[in-house]
Amino acid sequence: MAAYHRPATIEEALSCLDSDPVTIAAGCTDLLAATGSRELTGNVLDITGIKALRHVRKEAGDVLIGAAATWSDVIAADLPPSFDMLKQAAREVGSVQIQNAGTVAGNICNASPAADGMPCLLAMDAEVVTRSAAGGRVLALADFVTGPRRTALSAGELVTAIRIPATATGGRSRFLKLGARRYLVISIAMVAARLEIVDGRVIHPALSVGACGPVATRLATLEEALEGQPADARLAARVTSDLVAPDLSPIADIRADAPYRLEAATELLRRALTGLVAPEAEAAA
Ligand SMILES: Cc1cc2nc3c(=O)[nH]c(=O)nc-3n(C[C@H](O)[C@H](O)[C@H](O)COP(=O)(O)OP(=O)(O)OC[C@H]3O[C@@H](n4cnc5c(N)ncnc54)[C@H](O)[C@@H]3O)c2cc1C
Repeated sequence: MAAYHRPATIEEALSCLDSDPVTIAAGCTDLLAATGSRELTGNVLDITGIKALRHVRKEAGDVLIGAAATWSDVIAADLPPSFDMLKQAAREVGSVQIQNAGTVAGNICNASPAADGMPCLLAMDAEVVTRSAAGGRVLALADFVTGPRRTALSAGELVTAIRIPATATGGRSRFLKLGARRYLVISIAMVAARLEIVDGRVIHPALSVGACGPVATRLATLEEALEGQPADARLAARVTSDLVAPDLSPIADIRADAPYRLEAATELLRRALTGLVAPEAEAAA
């Protein structure tokens, strides 16, 4: 008979994972949507009772988002401006009810190409912290999500937190998403941009795109082209599809074709960067 486990500690969860095959369940907003059923079948490990996993906290300059932290927890957390993009993405995940139940960790473990958290977390050099009965691992998020609906998670392994290293908590940031309507929509394209401005110039731009390829990706070619450029209203004009394309493999699906996605991502990046370096130009547009 199928078992439902709701442990109170990480250790109990690990011992449960080590014995029988189980489905790890957090907010269930992806799990139930995937089955189309009102309840899960098979053995379930519900991690929402583990208090040690529900936090958004600082640790030696890094920021840790526990695996049971919801989108609403992120919105409510006291975080520096580099996290504005993650908060903006959080406010666009479904509805408030979905934000109250859905977790950031569930978003990345589900590994949908359209997961709104992915571009933001990539632009913050996020790492995924896991535990299993055999020990712990820390993986770069870019290595954790290996393809559509595929991750590097092994059997018996639990994500315990997402870590943003102190080195990536500087600067200001912006998230923009394009869908077929304003709310409750799966992204056609989305972008996250984080940068610092020193002496009027762009430093360390971190730019990423989601929903345009099999996995969300950083835009190394564009980042290199924008490094050191004047941080003013002219910056957007430097963002061309020729600089975005080398790091994208845009997909065609029911929502949009590949050329549209490339153009949409390019325009979203222009707007996100204008919002960061010249908000007055954005307001006038
Ligand atoms: C109406 C609706 C609207 C939505 N809108 C959006 C949207 O706009 N943008 C968006 O990105 N998403 C959206 N989603 C999808 C979903 O809400 C998010 O992806 C959410 O963050 C998933 O978190 P969860 O806790 O509910 O994950 P769950 O459904 O509990 O789990 C998802 C997957 O991750 C695994 N998992 C969860 N936690 C762990 C862990 N700690 N360790 C290992 N594996 C784990 C589960 O086994 C499962 O495979 C929407 C969903 C619904 C139903």
